[in-house]
Amino acid sequence: MRRLTAARFDSCPCCGKLEFEVAWLNSRASPIETSDDFFYGGKRFIHEIDRCLGCGFAFIADPETGRSEAFYTEADPGLYLRQSRLRRDYFTRLKAKLIRRGLIENEIRSVIDLGAGDEAWLGLWPAAKHSATETNPVLRQRLNACGVHLIADLPNDLAAADLVSAFDFLEHLENPVELVRQIRCAANDHARLVVSVPDIGTWAARLAGWRYYLVTPMHFSYFTEAALSHLLKSQFPDRDVEIFPSPRMQLSFDGLSRWLAPGTPRKRWHSLVIPLYYRASLIGLVSPRSDRAG
Ligand SMILES: [Zn+2]
Repeated sequence: MRRLTAARFDSCPCCGKLEFEVAWLNSRASPIETSDDFFYGGKRFIHEIDRCLGCGFAFIADPETGRSEAFYTEADPGLYLRQSRLRRDYFTRLKAKLIRRGLIENEIRSVIDLGAGDEAWLGLWPAAKHSATETNPVLRQRLNACGVHLIADLPNDLAAADLVSAFDFLEHLENPVELVRQIRCAANDHARLVVSVPDIGTWAARLAGWRYYLVTPMHFSYFTEAALSHLLKSQFPDRDVEIFPSPRMQLSFDGLSRWLAPGTPRKRWHSLVIPLYYRASLIGLVSPRSDRAG
């Protein structure tokens, strides 16, 4: 099945190509009723997914944008917060990767984290000024208590940042390229941008197809390595763009149950970690070009 235009984009927001295919179609998709349907419901709540024939970028044709803000605002972040230690370990490994790629720690005086969640990432930059955007009121309160400056007005605040981060954020937006464009316009020339998105090019994702656990109504967009690379390079043609696999993240029963059996009563032993790691995301790093020469 091929056609020239898709429901959500006139052309691919990543590579600009005009050809899409319908990659998943379910005329009997279940209506999204609860936040669990939206967060973890999977493909049976998705009517149509279209895919760019150029770079493999895929997206829900008619995402549930109307209630998404309410779902994030009203979500109980308890389970998310119980994973803070695992996330901090993950971000520690990511920070080490970024430093190996030339990011200089003592030059980072200000970090802005978009859709921050908790302080697991910002806490790794103790000498820097921390700012964040976050929708959920419980998480906002917690960030505030940690001394994080909460912002709403993105462009004005971005100019002061040495590092802008957006982890697992772009795929939740109706128009991810618009956010990247805003960052490009507002950030200063020396700022670095680091993003992560779920990778639908991993062997696990390709094997599972649309049954893959990260294919779910809250993820409006699905990136391949080529798609993320095109997106960042088209917006930052005069910077260095690197795409690489995310660090590994350790599994816990909490993390597993969230996806496999959302809504089931939690047992104390669910916080146990499992000696297994997974790698599900792509990291995109945008740096000033002069970094490479030095
Ligand atoms: Zn494309």
